[in-house]
Amino acid sequence: MHNRYVGRFAPSPSGQLHFGSLVTAVASYLDAKSHNGKWLVRMEDIDEPRCIAGVDKDILRTLEAHGLLWDDEVLYQSQQHARYQIVLDELIAKERAYYCTCTRKQIKAMGGVYNGHCRNKHVGSSLLPLNDDSAVRLKLDVPLDAFIDVIMGEVKPHAGLSLNHQQTNASEGGPFADALHAEDVVLKRRDGLFSYNLVVVLDDVFQQVNHVIRGCDLIDVTPLQRAVYQSLGFTSPEYGHIPVAAVAPGRKLSKQNRAAPVNNSIPIDNIVRVMHFLGFSFPGAATFNNVESVLNEAISMWSRKKVVKTAEIIVPQHESTY
Ligand code: GLU
Ligand code: ZN
Repeated sequence: MHNRYVGRFAPSPSGQLHFGSLVTAVASYLDAKSHNGKWLVRMEDIDEPRCIAGVDKDILRTLEAHGLLWDDEVLYQSQQHARYQIVLDELIAKERAYYCTCTRKQIKAMGGVYNGHCRNKHVGSSLLPLNDDSAVRLKLDVPLDAFIDVIMGEVKPHAGLSLNHQQTNASEGGPFADALHAEDVVLKRRDGLFSYNLVVVLDDVFQQVNHVIRGCDLIDVTPLQRAVYQSLGFTSPEYGHIPVAAVAPGRKLSKQNRAAPVNNSIPIDNIVRVMHFLGFSFPGAATFNNVESVLNEAISMWSRKKVVKTAEIIVPQHESTY
């Protein structure tokens, strides 16, 4: 059976779209549309304390202004808690997941890598009542494997390509990194928040997403997410990672370094700039009369092979502010 391509863009509404997030939106859209696929939008507002009211609407307005029209309804993670909890309860009942009471301090004392301490303790049973601040962890019994990224080619587990992890020991490889990445992954945090690594998998499955095009800042967690798919009995999507826009080496454009919101009044210029950023020799903005024509040209020119294969590209400061 040949499934129809389903892709998605999954922004966190913790800040308006900036140039870097527009790059991801455009790339995922073009890959979907050039494969005659559906393109969905999902608001990753699971970490509610970090989300800002109304930003979701700003993001959608920016997408619309750029002609990036999504299929189906926008899915909000904040409205999916009941569904996540059902999966979690089922995993716990089947002893595929378990409560863990270890604190950060205790894990530090284990040498910084969680050692499976609570795996067989049966926290939450009648013998060991549950306290309020237990995490839930998945029994991760599958190895983290290399995978073929549809843009970057072969990616080895924890290759250290991700910007987020560049400053940690984990990206340096070696036995520590192996152990850290193979920890029983947290599905629900001690503070009660569902973890990103759980919900991203559950929602991609729920929305039948079979292609994920996203920034290289997430390339290092991909082997883990693939292992979560496997542990839960699902087939993982295909992944393609694109370069991340950065202000300096290791510092991606973000709200923290005051990346300017995308200017919705110049969508043609913005899309042309995205295409140049991704490495395409693309006509200048003056060639196009409207946003539809620039997108159509981009769809017909899109090729995974032509995307620049580096984890990050520094964008000059003055450019990041228009
Ligand atoms: N919500 C994530 C972010 O904005 C993206 C997750 C994903 O694409 O898998 O960084
Ligand atoms: Zn524990």
